Amino acid sequence: MIDHTHNRLASSWVPGADEHPDFPVQNLPLGVFSLNDGPAHIGTAIGNMVLDLYAIADMLPEATQGALRQPTLNALFALSGADRLALRHALFAKLTSLSCRLKLTPHLHAIGDCTLHLPFRIGDYTDFYVGLHHASNVGALFRPDNPLLPNYKHVPIGYHGRASSVRVSDAPLRRPRGQIKPPEAEAPIHAPCRRLDYELELGVWIAGENAPGDTVPIARGWDRIGGLCLLNDWSARDMQAWEYQPLGPFLAKSFLTTVSPWVVTAQALAPFRTAQPPRPQGDPAPLPYLWDDDDQAHGAISLDLEVWLSTGGEPTRLSHGNSAQAMYWTLAQMVAHHASNGCDLHPGDLLGTGTLSGATPDSFGSLLELSQGGKAPITLPSGETRSFLEDGDEITLRAMAHAEGYRSIGFGACRGTVLPALASKV
Ligand code: CA
Repeated sequence: MIDHTHNRLASSWVPGADEHPDFPVQNLPLGVFSLNDGPAHIGTAIGNMVLDLYAIADMLPEATQGALRQPTLNALFALSGADRLALRHALFAKLTSLSCRLKLTPHLHAIGDCTLHLPFRIGDYTDFYVGLHHASNVGALFRPDNPLLPNYKHVPIGYHGRASSVRVSDAPLRRPRGQIKPPEAEAPIHAPCRRLDYELELGVWIAGENAPGDTVPIARGWDRIGGLCLLNDWSARDMQAWEYQPLGPFLAKSFLTTVSPWVVTAQALAPFRTAQPPRPQGDPAPLPYLWDDDDQAHGAISLDLEVWLSTGGEPTRLSHGNSAQAMYWTLAQMVAHHASNGCDLHPGDLLGTGTLSGATPDSFGSLLELSQGGKAPITLPSGETRSFLEDGDEITLRAMAHAEGYRSIGFGACRGTVLPALASKV
């Protein structure tokens, strides 16, 4: 999987690309953008610029040209992995050879001048719960003696989320209203959420399709992982606590899920794959359909993850951790499990990993954990305190991939700012 496009010495003629923290030529993430309310085009980010792939489609591999003229990435991610790899190779060649500069420069646009859109028409969104420390931390708030339920280490837990309210970074986050039952109250009220939270997650964009009834063997799991993004599963904790039994999250999650606009492809991430941390002594062995030696050896993905909060002034980093250390199940295990009952997964389906918290408080991926369920507010450098998000708070998720001998790449921001609840209409 590692090839010349991962060479750390490769250099692009696009000004500033070689120094860019997220988007040097080794990354080449895919997204959808528009200019001046014009039509949505597929593009790739290079430094601070977007290269319009619709405009240059006839210079790119023939098998990808039709898909590159679509307003979303669905058709492109329905193509074979070989076709998508050929596209990466062609983009890399053009952005590293000076002879292409004159031809391509008219099709480069400053990212700041572009409106970035959701990269896919999302058919389905599923949120998993593979962050072991998050599951333990949240479980401990409710069951101090028995934080993990007995199924956790046997089955990758997940639920079907809401696809219609997945939006791209910077989409407005309106504080939701919902049913809340304050602990001291006899009956629930309908009111603005008082315990609004974020969840730091990775999103998996599915490539390819399995027919209904067909499974995805775990050894082929990575064939179905088109790329990754950051995902913020905004959560109304007070609504969640009241509604979640017995069927799980519902309106506490479905008001908004925010994803980062750039799809960092599985090919770009090849150098950052690593071994899945060994299961702790005494943990059950997964069933055979969830086990693959190669996946255990190379199926984890090592990303440095950060959450930043701005309350109006300088942003504060709330946490930093590593994805490989946070995940009890691999991405391929998630995919194989999801399709193991014959469920068909389609290009542009979105899987969330679940909150990725590390073992220590400086790497917890939600305020629920950082403030111990609201009991221990955190103090910011400004002296302000937070148990949950207040109106005007801005949360930014970031991910960077580093590996010895390779050029670091990043995901760009996944951001949202809390707007006050609307006045009640009832
Ligand atoms: Ca979640």
